Amino acid sequence: MDMQKTGIFLAELRKGENLTQDELGEKIGVTNKTVSRWENGNYLPPVELLQMLSKLYGVSINELLSGERLNDEHYKENAEEYIVADLLKKRKEAKKRLVLAVIVACISVLAGLAITLLGTLLPAPIWVTVGCVAFSVVVVGLGIAVCCVLTVDAGVYECPHCGEKFVPSMKDFVFGVHTLTKRKLKCPNCGKKSFCKKKLS
Ligand SMILES: [Zn+2]
Repeated sequence: MDMQKTGIFLAELRKGENLTQDELGEKIGVTNKTVSRWENGNYLPPVELLQMLSKLYGVSINELLSGERLNDEHYKENAEEYIVADLLKKRKEAKKRLVLAVIVACISVLAGLAITLLGTLLPAPIWVTVGCVAFSVVVVGLGIAVCCVLTVDAGVYECPHCGEKFVPSMKDFVFGVHTLTKRKLKCPNCGKKSFCKKKLS
């Protein structure tokens, strides 16, 4: 995506409607500075405003993002390009979150172990030991919770019976029996409980 091109196109469209940056900003509820940043290619309007601009100028969002009016053939090509780019971006983000989750898991388990060891090895009164163990349980629990939040929507699970791909609820995700790549989940489509394979996007 060429933001410069989109910006120039946005400016052209605005001038075509005989609007100043001020007037356009007023119409759609942003400042003239914001309009100017879009038109300079510094920022892309958020999706709600892209929808507004597309209606206002009578062009598609796809055309706004492409920075030009598209004929049918080009339209298809460009639409696919954006869909693919979006999917790739999502997959990249999902991978990043998975890596982060593994790091969080390792750190929390190590921290838990260290605290437990300290509590049991040091000559301390029993309540200190118990406190340390309890604290380490909390640390590990928090680590697991963070991991769940990070990975629950990273990718989808595939039902081995009907092939349905779905994102499990947080509850099913946390309490589902699992291996590294599979998790026992109830399929929302066929209702069977089975080990579903994790797929990225
Ligand atoms: Zn199923």
